[in-house]
Amino acid sequence: MNCCNEKSVIALPAGEKLCKNHFIDYFESKVFKTIRQFDLIGKDENLGVALSGGKDSLTVLHLLKKLSKQNQKIKINAIAIDEGISGYRDKTLEKAKEFCNENNIKLHIFSYKEEFGLTLDEMLKILNAKPCTICGIFRRYLLNKKSRELKLTKLATGHNLDDECQSILMNQFKNNIEASARLGPKVGLIQDGKFVQRIKPLYLCTEKEVTAYAFMNGLLDDFAECPNASQSFRAQVRDMLNDFENKFPGTKYSIVNSFLQILPLLKQKFKHEIIKVCARCNEPSANELCNACVYLEKLRKSILEVR
Ligand code: SF4
Ligand SMILES: [Zn+2]
Ligand SMILES: [Zn+2]
Repeated sequence: MNCCNEKSVIALPAGEKLCKNHFIDYFESKVFKTIRQFDLIGKDENLGVALSGGKDSLTVLHLLKKLSKQNQKIKINAIAIDEGISGYRDKTLEKAKEFCNENNIKLHIFSYKEEFGLTLDEMLKILNAKPCTICGIFRRYLLNKKSRELKLTKLATGHNLDDECQSILMNQFKNNIEASARLGPKVGLIQDGKFVQRIKPLYLCTEKEVTAYAFMNGLLDDFAECPNASQSFRAQVRDMLNDFENKFPGTKYSIVNSFLQILPLLKQKFKHEIIKVCARCNEPSANELCNACVYLEKLRKSILEVR
């Protein structure tokens, strides 16, 4: 079924075909409805957006900037992390800087090299570890620490429905249900002053929808994927899910919608998790030392062994 007489540009999983204008309305209403439904943004916020320069984070920044123009009490800042992935991150950061300049948004950039002494590329030459594991640990660490230092009330990320779906299945496959209790459209303990809550305004938008919206608004990046991405477990789960979605449209929505029904039970089950403070860096941690300090120690030992 078509929305109107205009040429359709996208088909939704339920079968409806939308023209460009109706798709843009549909997409924006879905994001703003997600924000209301999950109470992601209050009336007075100093929001951060984790900006990689890719289509998802640019789309979130574009939409939240729109929201902030309608509400002067919502302030927007962008935070970018330069992991040091040569031939890739430098290009996405250029796009991030260009967008922030054009839209008058303050951009804060923090790098692994400055904060930890090594780029991700250098770390991977020293440690025999999965790139995305250490990359993710250091990125989450820096984003939380810097957001808190910048006094941001929340940090919005570009996670979409496909990302969430992949995370849910990855946790199932690895029997790591506790990690699933930390998923959802709003993450982080509000009662712990060391954690900055993270929000996902694109939670109910598929990758395909975000790509289409980004393309129509000139936000689509033309970068190749991160060179480390193909090695990841996530990439394999992504391919499997895409295959299933092609055969059985609506699979991704079903996974996320059923997950949302059990999420309150998971949060209840793991609510007694005690958040400690890392003995070395004072950042929040589930163990004596936080994961970032554990990997920094491994790096230090490996460097000493080589010398
Ligand atoms: S694909 Fe992996 S290594 Fe590349 S930026 Fe993402 S998490 Fe980091
Ligand atoms: Zn239409
Ligand atoms: Zn630590």
